Amino acid sequence: MARYIGPVCKLCRREGMKLYLKADRCYSEKCSITRRPKPPGVHGDKRVKLSEYGLRLREKQKVRRIYGVLERQFRRYFASADRTKGRTGENLIGVLERRLDNIVHRMGFGGSRNEARQLVLHKHVLVNGKRVNIPSYQVRAGEVITIREQARAQKRIETALAASEARPQLTWLEVDKKNFTGTVKALPVREELNEPAIREQYIVEYYSR
Ligand code: SF4
Repeated sequence: MARYIGPVCKLCRREGMKLYLKADRCYSEKCSITRRPKPPGVHGDKRVKLSEYGLRLREKQKVRRIYGVLERQFRRYFASADRTKGRTGENLIGVLERRLDNIVHRMGFGGSRNEARQLVLHKHVLVNGKRVNIPSYQVRAGEVITIREQARAQKRIETALAASEARPQLTWLEVDKKNFTGTVKALPVREELNEPAIREQYIVEYYSR
């Protein structure tokens, strides 16, 4: 599946907030949002008041960028969330959260979703003991995620695990960092997933125009 490969700090500056698209750098003083907190481009200094449509478009773009999903796949996720019982916005966040690359990152094995995605693509991640190299794989409750033994010595995994200590623990995930393994105890709880802040209702309104 295709992915965005351009500069990512620009994306945070466009959205006006940290989207945590890099690993260590996002938590350091080098973060572009700290150093240049204005939209990218020559007209970045101009103040623009967003229209109602613009607000909804930005929210959709922001969430797409947080999870590293391109438009076509994001639309598909929305359609599936819309077909599922319950609130469409919450269903959408649920589908995005259950992506394997996101879960690997949430468990602390990848410093960012992008880094976690690379671990998956390089076949370093096992789901219930089997190699899965599809970042969009939808993880189910009860499944066990493990980092392959050959990859455990990687410096980036060690750094990511250390950095994850500073993030709040999620009740729906159980992680055994010593053994490089984690279990998805239940499906994600929406209340715990608001960092960065997401207004999913805007996305529903965007696609319901
Ligand atoms: Fe770049 Fe991370 Fe800062 Fe975003 S949060 S601007 S990706 S360093």
